[in-house]
Amino acid sequence: MFIRELKQPVSRLKGIGDAAVKSLSSMEIFSVSDLLLHYPFRYEDRLNPVPLVYGRSDKTVNTTALVTGHEFFGWGHKKALKVHIQDDTDSAVLLCFGRNFLKDKLPVGQEIRIYGQFQFKFNELQSGTFDFEPVGEGESDLFDKILPVYHLSGSLTQKNLRKAIAQALREYAIAVNDEMNIPLYQKYHFLSKEEALKGIHFPASEETLRQARATLIYEELFHLQLVIGRRALKQHSLERESRTIPAMLQESLREKLPFKLTGDQEKVLEEIREDMESSRAMCRLVQGDVGSGKTLVAFMAALPVIEQGRQAAFMAPTELLARQHAENGARLLSGLGVRIAFLTGNINAENRKHLLEELKDGQIDLIVGTHALFTEDVVFKDLALAIVDEQHRFGVKQRLALLSKGSHPDLLLMTATPIPRTLALTAFGDLDVSTIKTMPAGRKVIETHLARIGNEQKVYDFVRNELRSGRQAYFVYPLIQQSEKMDLKDAESMYHHLENDVFPDFKVGMIHSKIDEDTKEHTMKAFVARDLDILVATSVVEVGVDVPNATIMVIEHAERFGLSALHQLRGRVGRGEHQSYNFLLYSPELTEEGKKRIMVMKENSDGFVISEEDLKLRGPGELTGVRQSGYLKLRIADFSRDADVLVRARDDVKELLKNDPGFLKPENRNLREMFAKAPPYSDDLLASG
Ligand code: ADP
Ligand code: MG
Repeated sequence: MFIRELKQPVSRLKGIGDAAVKSLSSMEIFSVSDLLLHYPFRYEDRLNPVPLVYGRSDKTVNTTALVTGHEFFGWGHKKALKVHIQDDTDSAVLLCFGRNFLKDKLPVGQEIRIYGQFQFKFNELQSGTFDFEPVGEGESDLFDKILPVYHLSGSLTQKNLRKAIAQALREYAIAVNDEMNIPLYQKYHFLSKEEALKGIHFPASEETLRQARATLIYEELFHLQLVIGRRALKQHSLERESRTIPAMLQESLREKLPFKLTGDQEKVLEEIREDMESSRAMCRLVQGDVGSGKTLVAFMAALPVIEQGRQAAFMAPTELLARQHAENGARLLSGLGVRIAFLTGNINAENRKHLLEELKDGQIDLIVGTHALFTEDVVFKDLALAIVDEQHRFGVKQRLALLSKGSHPDLLLMTATPIPRTLALTAFGDLDVSTIKTMPAGRKVIETHLARIGNEQKVYDFVRNELRSGRQAYFVYPLIQQSEKMDLKDAESMYHHLENDVFPDFKVGMIHSKIDEDTKEHTMKAFVARDLDILVATSVVEVGVDVPNATIMVIEHAERFGLSALHQLRGRVGRGEHQSYNFLLYSPELTEEGKKRIMVMKENSDGFVISEEDLKLRGPGELTGVRQSGYLKLRIADFSRDADVLVRARDDVKELLKNDPGFLKPENRNLREMFAKAPPYSDDLLASG
């Protein structure tokens, strides 16, 4: 019954007439509960005195002063009233433009409460915008409190919104139940929901405000984690027998490698092993910066599966990358008796048929490929592990399509676009996350240099020197072909220009998405074999391409690329023993945001920092690729600011669901109704990403 009361329309409140209803509805506030959840976006502290002398700084004055005189300034009927005031610390004037009637309200000798921003100008301390009230007129609406300030729209004023919210709190807040479990309130000294709502709107003290905020921020993240936690529970409920995983093939590969695995690679492999041995299917995301050696981890992870006589699939988003993985795999695993196959959409019908038969018979241990892997006619004998590289390039459906080829196979997702920790816990909250932070030993930090387009000659000269000493270079462009609409350099024109005019002594090749796969493959092979010195490309080389002798990445019109693309592109170099360089050439007409992105690249090399910056510049929705607008729009919590609260809420929810899997389930919820409108709490939304 209480719930229904909270759903009363706002028009039930005093002072909320038709115009106000309309203005409120444009902010999606329809019911009393919506209104109660319209939190202030800032506060004015009219509690703690700030005497006049502080008006000389940028502090807002909040004091009691005496009116000491009047004066008019200006000419003719445009003359404006100036009221002189004084407190214990200083004297000042109030400029009453267009409000000469204030003369009567502010008689000389009157004591007033005053709140406003002052400036020291023309040799006096003055304010043109201020609130005031005569002292001694009973309880005040405007003074001696921390005053909430709300987002407004249409005809609304702070005054009538404050009034309506105050009434809603008086009459309805008692209907609000607490929405977390009781031990949490005790553990964190949270306020009850009723107190928290009162405290967030009309805090009696700074301490109350702090407590109210802490309560509501935590509560919001708690509910978000609850949805995620319940999803994870569903996913993990598909139990199987726990088992021991063999390690012989992994050992053989370790011995074969010319280098040692990094500590983080070993740590991740250990986590993967534990998952594989556990009684529920693995669902793990491995994130590691470009060049941190994820591919090797993927192959290592496949080995125990193969050793058991079962099958693994390794899916990559582009044919270029899939082919590279297949070739690397063949090289790495040669001599271990692993049977590898490569499947793309581009293989001829007869070969395809043959390959699919082998796969079905279990004659193939590891299949590497593109989207082609989950087409319908692909049947495995016993798919036990699905690996998805650059997972953010695939949708949930595609992941599931691959998984459906086995019976509860383990899932290993890899990403080189590091997900900020906070997002990993939310949009990706149903995954376990492993992180590779350390780079293989001996890597040098890539030097990043900026140059304006127009000054590219110097860059080209530098590149020529590097090429002479045997290195190779990438040149990347935002367009494939010339465009009439955009005045940008394009790959095809630049390919000819670089080959004929700039680097006539060197061999130049080109790849982009309009070139057919065979030619692409041929060009890539030539680049790997150092038959080509320069590879002109679009962002197709962004993912995965691994040519350690290439040490130069020139990106022209760098302002046209997103941060994660730039970081990925830069990650194509710095993969070997030689010092590498990244040149970001920008057009003089670049936007503020373009400029910021380029500066972020110049100043940072850590992919995690870059993706946090990306999050700040773009907002989280876009980053996770979640379509629905408003997703992850939180009322009061903030993913970057409240990251540690999020972590706490996640851990608490995990613990809670362990003991009480039905906690606040939709069917047992009471006041979760209040959150019906809150966007993040839908399972479908969380499924994307
Ligand atoms: P990414 O994480 O971007 O997928 P890759 O798996 O392509 O990185 O690895 C980048 C390069 O580092 C490859 O040439 C790979 O052989 C090499 N590599 C991987 N692990 C190590 C290691 N532990 N020590 C030295 N080199 C390594
Ligand atoms: Mg990779």
